[in-house]
Amino acid sequence: MQAFTLTQPSNIQSAVAAASEPQTKYIAGGTDLLQLAKDDIETPRQLVDLEPLPMSGIHAGPNGLRLEALARMSDVAAHPAVVHGWPVLSQALLASASPQIRNMATVGGNLLQRTRCGYFRDTGFACNKRVPGSGCPAINGENRMHAILGVSDHCIATNPGDMAVAMMVLDAELELIGRNGTRKVAIGDFHRLPADTPHIETILRPGELITGIAIPASAAARRSGYLKVRDRASFEFAVVSAAVALDMDGGTIRSARVAAGGVGTKPWRLPEVEAALTGKPARAATLQEAAGRAGEGAKTTAMNAFKLVLLRRAVLRALQTVAA
Ligand SMILES: Cc1cc2nc3c(=O)[nH]c(=O)nc-3n(C[C@H](O)[C@H](O)[C@H](O)COP(=O)(O)OP(=O)(O)OC[C@H]3O[C@@H](n4cnc5c(N)ncnc54)[C@H](O)[C@@H]3O)c2cc1C
Ligand code: SF4
Repeated sequence: MQAFTLTQPSNIQSAVAAASEPQTKYIAGGTDLLQLAKDDIETPRQLVDLEPLPMSGIHAGPNGLRLEALARMSDVAAHPAVVHGWPVLSQALLASASPQIRNMATVGGNLLQRTRCGYFRDTGFACNKRVPGSGCPAINGENRMHAILGVSDHCIATNPGDMAVAMMVLDAELELIGRNGTRKVAIGDFHRLPADTPHIETILRPGELITGIAIPASAAARRSGYLKVRDRASFEFAVVSAAVALDMDGGTIRSARVAAGGVGTKPWRLPEVEAALTGKPARAATLQEAAGRAGEGAKTTAMNAFKLVLLRRAVLRALQTVAA
């Protein structure tokens, strides 16, 4: 493990200034970063501890929800306003990791957790994400858990998060602060496709800090749900997951938002499914037909082709549950 210094900033500005120095990373709950540091996947020389900053609030009102970046996953999942107004978010968080990890981990850190690709997490293997240009052994190797959407010839690793998938159907917006001021970024624009630079995973600039996440209130948010399919019932990453939010007018679907996890190199919205639902009666045949379109453009391998079938089944089950 690389030795590092720990900086404890007294305010956001000094945190951003410290984190703008080379070989520096923020540390929040530490549940991903410390493991990566112990395994020499991440080798920062300075960590900027976010813990002293007053950024852990959860603010819910009639117009929306604002999560400060250090809000703990467990606190957000259990918040009564989240459970009732944004159930897909609560469900996705409760399906993540374990209670102990959720008590430590923050929502800001969750958005930046790194892939669980076994080659990435083992320095004994080449990996374009870890060492650009070194190769991708997963493409012709053990890739049962890898992505089928958004893949490139350089990387097929999935984004492993659950919460971001839920946020995709809630139109969440991230609030960022950096050396040049603040900006807002839609969750769908935050993660990048791997293309030929899989080591660049988000649009964050050096030293930029996530300060909060804003999520509007809506009828669709209130009628939403998350389904996660995994190899064991708890403490496991998604093989496939589906997030659904429906705005219904009686028995008709006025608008739909559908996203998937476990299948994409980033949290993946499914516009082909949404289009097939919009303005249609929420009958079994409509849901079946729409779910059957999920995964347009998928590129599978012999080991992970099952994910396309599983994705469609998971989307159908999530649609049935939320529409009922
Ligand atoms: C055994 C295990 C099982 C897990 N299972 C799941 C699962 O099923 N589903 C799931 O979604 N996740 C799962 N996780 C991942 C877990 O949710 C993440 O480790 C956690 O959310 C990361 O949050 P953290 O606060 O600990 O981040 P840290 O580990 O502290 O940081 C992670 C990264 O985010 C950066 N960072 C943190 N906060 C900010 C900020 N505000 N602004 C800018 N950068 C920031 C850090 O620099 C670092 O690069 C699992 C983890 C483990 C160890
Ligand atoms: S899939 Fe991506 S993370 Fe995994 S070995 Fe290939 S380049 Fe590395």
